[in-house]
Amino acid sequence: MADCIFCKIAAGEIPAAKIYEDELVFAFLDIAPINPGHVLVIPKEHHESASTIPEVTAGRMFHVGSRIGIALKRMENFDAYNLHLADGTAAGQVVMHAHLHVIPRGVNDQFHWNWRQVPYGDDAAREAVASEIRSKLHLD
Ligand code: AMP
Ligand code: ZN
Repeated sequence: MADCIFCKIAAGEIPAAKIYEDELVFAFLDIAPINPGHVLVIPKEHHESASTIPEVTAGRMFHVGSRIGIALKRMENFDAYNLHLADGTAAGQVVMHAHLHVIPRGVNDQFHWNWRQVPYGDDAAREAVASEIRSKLHLD
């Protein structure tokens, strides 16, 4: 897509530190890493949302992302990784070409997800939410 920075990276029109490429996906270093070695895996085809990426490509993104995660775990100071994907502005998506973050992690890296917990009031409230999601889920 014209004016999409990640389409331009995948096409080689904008420089990036390439980690991996095949016919479906492209992986490169994030320019502002949480830790050095932070990688982004993108579909070569432009998709704003992960939800429209064809299943074979989305599967390749996850496969390549987790294999890159294993490579990161072999590096000095890292023994773990996070996969992260922000879909939509409210979720923190800034670049509107879907991308999977692969973030190397180490016990002393001083990075903490700001992960909160909002408990359900009771079992009925929890089941009402589960029921609503099931009713809105269309996988075809
Ligand atoms: P998100 O907030 O999930 O949309 O993440 C977008 C990511 O893209 C951020 O972590 C940025 O640092 C990264 N980014 C933006 N422009 C570039 C670029 N030209 N090369 C590499 N990474 C980039
Ligand atoms: Zn794009």
